[in-house]
Amino acid sequence: MEQVIDNAICPACGKKTLRTVIVEKELPRFGRAVLVTSKCSACGYTHTDVMELEDRGHKKLRILVDDPKKLNALVVRSAGATVRIPEFDLEMLPGPFSNGFITTVEGVLDRFESAAEKIVPESEEEKDAKETALREIREAKDGKRQFTLEIDDPRGVSGIILSDDASSEQEQ
Ligand SMILES: [Zn+2]
Repeated sequence: MEQVIDNAICPACGKKTLRTVIVEKELPRFGRAVLVTSKCSACGYTHTDVMELEDRGHKKLRILVDDPKKLNALVVRSAGATVRIPEFDLEMLPGPFSNGFITTVEGVLDRFESAAEKIVPESEEEKDAKETALREIREAKDGKRQFTLEIDDPRGVSGIILSDDASSEQEQ
């Protein structure tokens, strides 16, 4: 099922050139999710979100990635959720330009990696922090380091789904 909304006002440039595509997806062990993608043809602004029509209440999710197989666990993040890897001191905060996504644990590491690559260090300390973060992320992707992935979602829409385990690890 797909729905398109055309000519809406773009929140970035204010022109009526925003196209929004709403796709319903059935995710294993998660249920129905609505993936919303908006794109402005004038300025290139894009925004994606994963939504449920129902607010499920504040939820904290956590998965300990202690096996490379868990890099393939499915991660559903709504735009309002915070994603953290405490061991590496990494955090993805919600904001007006934060996007929801459906990816894997490895895909989340990719996002942290490209965000870290974009950082322009202004001091020796920041340069060290950037290099450490990149090394830790790459070792994690290679399955050489164990870490915890946490999602803090005020709407409770996000999810972590392990393909060979019916229960996504959860903490209220
Ligand atoms: Zn625009």
